[in-house]
Amino acid sequence: MTSTTVRAPAKINLGLSVGPLRDDGFHELATVYMALDLHDTVRVSLRDDDRITVAVHVDADDREESVDVPLDADNLAVRAVERLRTAAGVSTGVDLVIRKVIPVAGGMAGGSADAAAALVGANAELGLGWSREELAEIGADLGSDVPFLLHGGVGIGTGRGEQISPVLSRGRYGFLVVVAREGLSTPQVYAEFDRLEPDPQSPRIAPELMAALRGHDAERLGEHLSNDLEVAALSLRPELDRVLQIGVDAGALAGIVSGSGPTCVFLLEDDADAQVLTTELWSAPGCADVIHTHGPAPGARIIA
Ligand code: ATP
Repeated sequence: MTSTTVRAPAKINLGLSVGPLRDDGFHELATVYMALDLHDTVRVSLRDDDRITVAVHVDADDREESVDVPLDADNLAVRAVERLRTAAGVSTGVDLVIRKVIPVAGGMAGGSADAAAALVGANAELGLGWSREELAEIGADLGSDVPFLLHGGVGIGTGRGEQISPVLSRGRYGFLVVVAREGLSTPQVYAEFDRLEPDPQSPRIAPELMAALRGHDAERLGEHLSNDLEVAALSLRPELDRVLQIGVDAGALAGIVSGSGPTCVFLLEDDADAQVLTTELWSAPGCADVIHTHGPAPGARIIA
């Protein structure tokens, strides 16, 4: 039996500007995404019947099962394959095996990464030959981050984040990712944002942030990281303020809540700082893991 294995990255939002609520219930966004070298992998193989199954593992040997991710039709990877099948007019069954590394409900778009990987894998296994743009159109309905995760690198997202234009950025950056013991629900964070900011301005991207990316200026990038959802995440999870403080005191260029949180991301001046910072951050309240990673990374791609 053949299979296709696809790797898809986590994302952070270097800038996330949240504008007014639209008629469809989504906020107008302007965001600068960066894909990180922190990946889920999804193995896709075809079945003899028409079922779509999913297994989710959290270890390299595919033995330990995840407890936090749905194993039915609610799984975003399953929904992605279902949509692709419908759009292509095929009914071939598919088995999905996800190896989960991206924190669940962490504001790093792990579910959307699995959906992006499943689209790429199923596209290959079913021999559809669809372009990334075509897959992105299907994926956008499942999660606003899916189109970016198909493209990877650095990108500006507008609309509700699903309209992507690539950004020219030079060099790589080092990050520490602090994973929280307990996730935060994205809708809950947006509801808190609405309560705190009932009348937001039109979203905008800071030109200084773009200039820092063009010039590969980590210090300047650190000064211009911003996230409008941070205040809402901090309101729901006040201890994150302390996490951010610990990282900056220990020498990070900047710390920011990733997307809707509660994951916090720290920009490093130098990879040599990672070890000291990691030790300090392990003592932060609610910390479940500290991961040293880099960005930008490529989008969802076949690795086997
Ligand atoms: P985002 O940043 O895109 O808002 P997130 O990173 O905060 O999302 P996810 O890890 O994508 O959160 O998951 C949010 C919820 O989606 C989880 O609580 C889980 O129940 C559900 N979910 C469905 N499919 C998946 C999947 N493949 N991986 C992770 N979560 C999934």
